[in-house]
Amino acid sequence: MTSAHQYSNEWDKLNQQLPKWLEQSREQYVNGKVASYIPELSKAPINALGIHMIDSYGNHITAGETKLTFTMQSISKVFTLLLALMDNGKDVVFDKVGMEPTGDSFNSMLKLELVQPGIPFNPLINAGAIAISSLIAGGSPEEKSERVLQFFRKLSFNDTLTYDKAVYHSEAESADLNRSMAYFLKDNGVLKGNVDDVLDVYFRHCSILTTSSDLARMALVLAYDGTDPITGISLVPRQYVQIAKTFMVTCGMYNASGEFAIEVGLPAKSGVAGGILTMVPGKYGIGIVGPALNAKGNSIAGVHLLTTMSREMDWSIF
Ligand code: GLN
Repeated sequence: MTSAHQYSNEWDKLNQQLPKWLEQSREQYVNGKVASYIPELSKAPINALGIHMIDSYGNHITAGETKLTFTMQSISKVFTLLLALMDNGKDVVFDKVGMEPTGDSFNSMLKLELVQPGIPFNPLINAGAIAISSLIAGGSPEEKSERVLQFFRKLSFNDTLTYDKAVYHSEAESADLNRSMAYFLKDNGVLKGNVDDVLDVYFRHCSILTTSSDLARMALVLAYDGTDPITGISLVPRQYVQIAKTFMVTCGMYNASGEFAIEVGLPAKSGVAGGILTMVPGKYGIGIVGPALNAKGNSIAGVHLLTTMSREMDWSIF
């Protein structure tokens, strides 16, 4: 256990060093690209980098562009998984999605046909998250999306959280690959109901507008196994948070999850808008934004910064 003395040394060191580490990592943007396959995302500032950290007492440390807003994209998949688990239980969810990393890119369909019974390998790839969207309880896509939004608001302690309409429309208009995946899943018996309705729930949760502060707050709840340490409110059953965090370690950084586990060693989830949600379990929630992505679709400067922080602070859980 960390003593209060050690803890304050660690927090002091972070406070002092973080601005310098952030500026060093920011330079990485020259080797990255902003996502453009969803046209609206290409407007993000390529050289931005911001980080927000929260501890269990509600203390904050921030550096860089923490005011920047961006859409959650794949980060939302962690939380729709939690809601689907709470709505249906483990057996129903894992009848429709597997528990294994693919080693393929996040939008690949390859293994759906290659490996029987043709269910998505895990809930954090696009095919898996689309299957999860169909499991959210609600009588209509509107009701499902509203339940998702309310759940995200509860976990972020931010009642103003909402969708970015421009990004939502931009994705809906350019989602041929996700659409084809959803039809394939329906044919395989993974998806029930109307494909467009399921996709609407998926596009909406990907386009929830957020900040690094929201991500840090949501991560803090996961860092404390589903019970918010600041308010003491229990938000998600511990056994489901454990499942989500395990997926974050094995699949959260797409097909770079192995390298990230070695270099950083923390549960994390990235999104193509440049966000990363991560945590030091039992200690801090962390939100990062850096829109320039590496070849695997992760924030290039964000991963660099987390690599430095984990090394300097000895944070790897392994
Ligand atoms: N909405 C994005 C998509 O479906 C999410 C992908 C991501 O963040 N990796 O392509």
